[in-house]
Amino acid sequence: MLDIKIKNILRKLLGDQNSPTQYTHHAALITCSGGYLFSSWFNYFYHASDIGNVYFQLALGLFLAWIWFRSRFHNQFDTMAIVFMMLMPILSVPVNWFFNAGSCGPTYLLGLAALIYITANFRQFGIYQKIAQGLCILIPLPLMIIERQNPDWIFNYPNLETQQIDLIVSFFLVSLVMLLLISANTMHFRLEQQKVEALSVRLRLLSEQDSLTGLSNRHILEREYSAWQNNTDQLCLAIIDLDWFKQVNDNYGHAYGDHVLRKLAELLQESAVNSNGLAVRLGGEEFVLLMPISKMEAFTNLNVLADKLRNTSFEHGTITFSAGLIEVNTLDNQIESLKKADTLLYEAKNSGRDRIAMDYECS
Ligand code: GH3
Ligand code: MG
Ligand code: MG
Repeated sequence: MLDIKIKNILRKLLGDQNSPTQYTHHAALITCSGGYLFSSWFNYFYHASDIGNVYFQLALGLFLAWIWFRSRFHNQFDTMAIVFMMLMPILSVPVNWFFNAGSCGPTYLLGLAALIYITANFRQFGIYQKIAQGLCILIPLPLMIIERQNPDWIFNYPNLETQQIDLIVSFFLVSLVMLLLISANTMHFRLEQQKVEALSVRLRLLSEQDSLTGLSNRHILEREYSAWQNNTDQLCLAIIDLDWFKQVNDNYGHAYGDHVLRKLAELLQESAVNSNGLAVRLGGEEFVLLMPISKMEAFTNLNVLADKLRNTSFEHGTITFSAGLIEVNTLDNQIESLKKADTLLYEAKNSGRDRIAMDYECS
């Protein structure tokens, strides 16, 4: 219950987990915003930096919260991500440098954290990312030169103790933010991995299913045939082929033909379920039923199927099928069995269609 509540709050604040980059960046924005607001309060309380920096950090904390808000609720993720990338090296680092003791303060830590974050999270922004990375690395250089030439431009700590407190607090703060970012990134990768896994399940399904009818395709027949042949006492295989289907297609169109195929597939699936069997589309208007039952039971099953199809009303009238049914010989592989069933199907077609032909042992 609590778990669901927390998940709902996180979803509200961070967005959809299916967009891991956005999800983790929103978490980072909220953390940074909180970090700046805390820093502002800390600097104000301990006089660890100039009052100008306190206001600046307060403004930046609020601005980051605004960036998060626009990105999360106004569909402006990309724009706001670029603003964030530029904001860090161009504004945040220099202001922090001047107001927070220059090279003696915690700005290096801040710049390094920004560089790591931008590198880890914004690969998709191409040139903008490169510019932001370059700025993060280069901007301390002019700042050092300015500091050397105009030391009085830099706000210095009132004493060593304040410097030590500020450095240690900044270190903890940046470490905490880095830890959060790394765990957010780990989550990012986990989410990506979950997406890939879901996609591979979908791909596997697609590779196993016939796209028109949703029945299994012949790859599955190959696999299941061997498994069932080894594990069942009795196994029958029937090839089923619609009669005069070309005429249906020619007279009523391909889309209508597809509709007929889907309807037959539904009935075949029902029939497969009834016999604990497997319905497969071999291709075109040819199907296979694999049934772990006796030949007489399979014959009855096919007759029920034939009746159901005959009684299904189609726009063009009725449609029938012919079938070749065999009992699978334990020594025959799938190709041999299909060949035998196909020979019988050929006989059924030649002797007038709309019938089921079986091998001699049973007829
Ligand atoms: P027979 O009774 O001898 O089986 O005659 P038939 O017309 O059913 O057989 P034939 O092999 O001459 O024609 C099969 C037709 O099936 C040809 C093709 O237009 C149609 N067909 C094959 N695949 C599809 C498909 O995916 N969708 C549709 N609508 N038609 C298909
Ligand atoms: Mg055919
Ligand atoms: Mg046919």
